[in-house]
Amino acid sequence: MLVDSNKRSIPAVDTLLKAVGESELPRPLLVATIRQELNQIRTADEIPDRDSVIDLVKQAIQRTIRSRIQPVINATGIIVHTNLGRAPLGSEVVSALGALAGQYNNLEYDLTTGERGGRANYVEAGLATLCQSEAATIVNNCAAALVLILRELTSEKREVIVSRGELIQIGGGFRIPDILETSGATLREVGTTNRTNLADYETAIGPNTGLILKVHRSNFFMDGFVESPLRDELSKLARESGVPLVEDLGSGALTDTEKAAGLTREPTPAEAIRAGVDLVCFSGDKLMGGPQAGIIAGNAAHVGRMKRNPFFRALRCDRLVLGAMQAVVDHLLADKPTPVSDMMSASVDELRKRAETIRQALADVSARIEIGEGKAQVGGGTLPRDTIPSVTLDIHATNRSATRLAADLRRSAPPVISYPSQKILKLDLRTVFPEQDETLTKCLSEVLRNQE
Ligand SMILES: *Cc1c(COP(=O)(O)O)cnc(C)c1O
Repeated sequence: MLVDSNKRSIPAVDTLLKAVGESELPRPLLVATIRQELNQIRTADEIPDRDSVIDLVKQAIQRTIRSRIQPVINATGIIVHTNLGRAPLGSEVVSALGALAGQYNNLEYDLTTGERGGRANYVEAGLATLCQSEAATIVNNCAAALVLILRELTSEKREVIVSRGELIQIGGGFRIPDILETSGATLREVGTTNRTNLADYETAIGPNTGLILKVHRSNFFMDGFVESPLRDELSKLARESGVPLVEDLGSGALTDTEKAAGLTREPTPAEAIRAGVDLVCFSGDKLMGGPQAGIIAGNAAHVGRMKRNPFFRALRCDRLVLGAMQAVVDHLLADKPTPVSDMMSASVDELRKRAETIRQALADVSARIEIGEGKAQVGGGTLPRDTIPSVTLDIHATNRSATRLAADLRRSAPPVISYPSQKILKLDLRTVFPEQDETLTKCLSEVLRNQE
């Protein structure tokens, strides 16, 4: 039979292992990758010849190697890039993490009494101070924080009042109505897409209202004939009705983004709490510049309820995240910048100087390199309206398309992530750490030379 003879023509795994030679993949994973690729090849109508099979297997091995999480140079100009791990941590945070990781620590041990202690007391106290709230706690991410809050506050009264203008979808399929549903809550929509007023909320409040949820429109913005009640009006109504008011802030800007970087003002946890919101939640790895986490802050009674909810145990952070967050909190309390805030505020002149140095170092490659303008973004679904003027290296490749060149740069060590703009390949320096300039130059030089 034709199929059988085809099957016989596929080289054995052992033969292929010899043919591909040494690999940086652990052997069992190398074998698994080869097997998987062979299975794939077997499903093809026609089995390729031996050399092509070896080629395909080698490509599969490369794909597996590239899928390892590894450092990359972010030249996209998107500062909080969700695909690139969101907020990079500063060197102080990294060394604090390094010092903790390989040691025992007092994660749940009270060094004063010698007894079992709370799990994240210090971080919680620091976060509460940053948020100017009575209390705070931390879970795996902001989505988890929201689920926990909803589960706890709708355990008896199921209804959650949300404005139709805030039923948003955040990246990765996170939709507010779905989150409500999986948390066992019932959505009570009020207002319209563009306008929701205080009376809309007022009429919706009833015996089954568990909470009022306000969701920050972090990744889009509305202009024109729009209305939503002021936070203090809404909190007054909530208080008078005995209904908790919760705000999902998403981005987690702890400082004034307008003053710090000339961007649109993001609401801070402190101002929401000051306005009378009972609980806020936000991401740790967006504008806060920390590890992936979800922060819950607000009044002590509500935060206490969250921590006593059995679900809290399933959402708690591990020691590495707590260690990193603790260092970030110390850093922010000392008013020191994070890599994210540094990138947001770096001056165009500074970036242009760096671009010039890199360009000069590449003077002998044949590709034309110009210094261009870029529009950097905060990213991570925050501040959608704002672009930050930036500086790019614009590469006009002579014998490769810009997309091809982008692919070649992704293959360099470390991989460089750039973006094509028509026929030019752009590398935005705002998201490249100054200490990476030399490595970036080396990668560019190698890739561009290879084409000559
Ligand atoms: C980003 C975002 C979330 C999700 O945060 P994660 O930490 O990624 O889970 C939730 N709500 C809003 C408004 C957001 O912007």
